[in-house]
Amino acid sequence: MAQAKPTLDHPDDTTLIQRAYRNLLRCMPAPLDVEDKNNIRAAFELAAKAHQQQRRKSGEPYILHPIEVARICVEEIGLGPTAVVSALLHDVVEDTDVSLKEIHTQFGARVALIVDGLTKLDSLHDSESPQAENLTKVLRTMLSDVRVVLIKMADRLHNLRTIKSMAPHKQLKIAAETSTIYAPLAHRLGLYKIKTEFQDICLKITHPDEYHDIADKLALTRRSREQYIEAFKRPLAKALKEQLGLDVQMIGRPKSIYSIWNKIRTKQVAFEDIYDLFAIRIIVDVPPEREKIACWQAYAIVTDFYKPIPERLKDWITNPKANGYESLHTSVVGPDGRYVEVQIRSERMDEIAERGFAAHWKYKGVRGIGNKALVFETWLNQVRETLENVLSGSPVEFLADFQSNLFSEEVHVFTPKGEMKILPEGATALDFAFSIHSDIGSTCRAVKVNNKVERIHYKLQNGDQIQVITDKNQRPSEDWLKHVITSKAKNRIRAALKEEKRQLAALGREILERKLQNMHKCPVEENADMLTRWFGFPNRLEFFSAIALEQVDLSGLKSFRTDGPRLIESEGEKAPHNGDGELRPGDTAQAAKPLKQQASKADVFINGEPGTYYAYSFATCCNPVQGDPIFAYVGTKEGVKIHRTTCPNAPFLLANYEYRVHKAEWGATVKADFVATVLVTGIDAGPGVIQQLTDRISSMGINIRSFSISGEGGYFEGRISLVVANTDQLNQAILALKEFKFVANVSRME
Ligand code: MN
Repeated sequence: MAQAKPTLDHPDDTTLIQRAYRNLLRCMPAPLDVEDKNNIRAAFELAAKAHQQQRRKSGEPYILHPIEVARICVEEIGLGPTAVVSALLHDVVEDTDVSLKEIHTQFGARVALIVDGLTKLDSLHDSESPQAENLTKVLRTMLSDVRVVLIKMADRLHNLRTIKSMAPHKQLKIAAETSTIYAPLAHRLGLYKIKTEFQDICLKITHPDEYHDIADKLALTRRSREQYIEAFKRPLAKALKEQLGLDVQMIGRPKSIYSIWNKIRTKQVAFEDIYDLFAIRIIVDVPPEREKIACWQAYAIVTDFYKPIPERLKDWITNPKANGYESLHTSVVGPDGRYVEVQIRSERMDEIAERGFAAHWKYKGVRGIGNKALVFETWLNQVRETLENVLSGSPVEFLADFQSNLFSEEVHVFTPKGEMKILPEGATALDFAFSIHSDIGSTCRAVKVNNKVERIHYKLQNGDQIQVITDKNQRPSEDWLKHVITSKAKNRIRAALKEEKRQLAALGREILERKLQNMHKCPVEENADMLTRWFGFPNRLEFFSAIALEQVDLSGLKSFRTDGPRLIESEGEKAPHNGDGELRPGDTAQAAKPLKQQASKADVFINGEPGTYYAYSFATCCNPVQGDPIFAYVGTKEGVKIHRTTCPNAPFLLANYEYRVHKAEWGATVKADFVATVLVTGIDAGPGVIQQLTDRISSMGINIRSFSISGEGGYFEGRISLVVANTDQLNQAILALKEFKFVANVSRME
């Protein structure tokens, strides 16, 4: 957010601004018509004036940000003049006195609509997740104009590129939001380049050491990789030219740091063991009607020289991805027996792959590419449907669904009539049933997959033909939520369950009412929230329906006057009562925890204040050790938890509840014990292994909490929980274990 400063117009600012603006104009495809030119000028002048008093965190004049966002829209996404005008004005309504009405008067309805879509909703303090609601707003406007979301991408990209000037915990929040929302969205819009940059920057923020480690190694191996790519390309270039008679571009590109990191993590391999660090892209220049055949011809030539790995062949030309991506992929065995990924596509496909959505408009109506342009319409329809469904669910659930639905790869399946349906990878037969119609989903009893009867949670495979068998007595159950991944199915199931629960809750409420009348002569309404918390339920609905299901021991009501909080009576003095739903000391029996004892374990500062002010504890999902980068999270049930910034739950917490996240730091060195678990893998060197590992650790004065080891086929995998004072000691232990010849890898478990 911009900071108002009393100064304006340093002469060098003006130069800076003019230079940036001229650079933007230079990027616009010529010739620009006069009206567009004037509009852009007017938007620039209005924005420059409105933001005049503002500076970015870096100290730069604020206007450089909208100018740069506009440039990204043109140069990196391929948008036109209307987007440039809107991008220049995108922060004006949110951050300055200019109103949407003024924008409307000066620039027309279209620009006003886009700018409105880009203006954050205000007054969301009581919202469960402002992020989710803002995202919903962006998506809604996107349905009327897709440029809203594309400009939002450019905005986020520039903010990430300049993120260094932000405070570290702010950076973490932005990184989390980017990796849970914007990267999936970029993927889905086909903006691969931007998605990759999002992921790389996020990785740099959340895992700086690993990021720099990989970046350094990539730099060190650059020369040998380039030589390898040259050797790989040489025979191909000649053959492609001679046999195809085509202009062919061949590009060798290293994979992104994020994708390498992801591979190291998920496949448990070392950097040195990743062979397909680079991909070769072959781009053929042919008219649309010849592109498919030309790509396959190129494939034939590549596989004449290098042996293909059949399982790796993917034909996204015949069946493009839902985001419009088209390409032929394969992996081949290159020189020295290394795997090389090869991507083959036409110029048009390449532009769509790089620029996604925006490029698609350019090719709309081009003959020879069939109805592939419709892919985007289909996707927009899916988003529309998801949004309609969200009205029934909570924004946080929506966010989770949105991510799982839009980030994943997809499967293509068929109805009995041969109609193709595209669902996200991992979708089940039940998802399929709901995708046809919510009634078919709700009454789904079984399915026939390729004429064979299967359970409803059958995982869809490409090419399956699915027939749904319904039964009108069937009803959705809680269990079903585990068997679906699409938001449509989830929302319909939740809605059905909620309805059922509402009926139960009404019943439970009556039961409670009677009891309260008999025992205390006091009303339900005033006491419901307190009782809900006392019995440990998240909300009234859950509490009341649990009463109806006889899952609550209401005899506990008797003890209320003696050792618990007082109930509010119908008449007379009212007991203290929080209306805000927050748990406060004294509210319930469990609130009076021994704060002192917790705090003496380690010295933590939360928002710059001693942690002893809070009843904090360390999260067991990531077990922070002194020295780890950490943050504090204020939960509604369990109080303040300290998490590692690399905690697997961190992105979810930060993206959904950023307002509950606070800065946390370690205090001065203290004597404290932390438990950290390391994973040791290696060659099974026989029965002495455990002894050697434990001896080494003990000799360093480190205690072992637990040790488990398993082995198979000459390998072993051990999990050792160590009691350490800080990360230094932990790292020393990891290094020491790595020294054993039989140990292949030692890593801390997340
Ligand atoms: Mn902005």
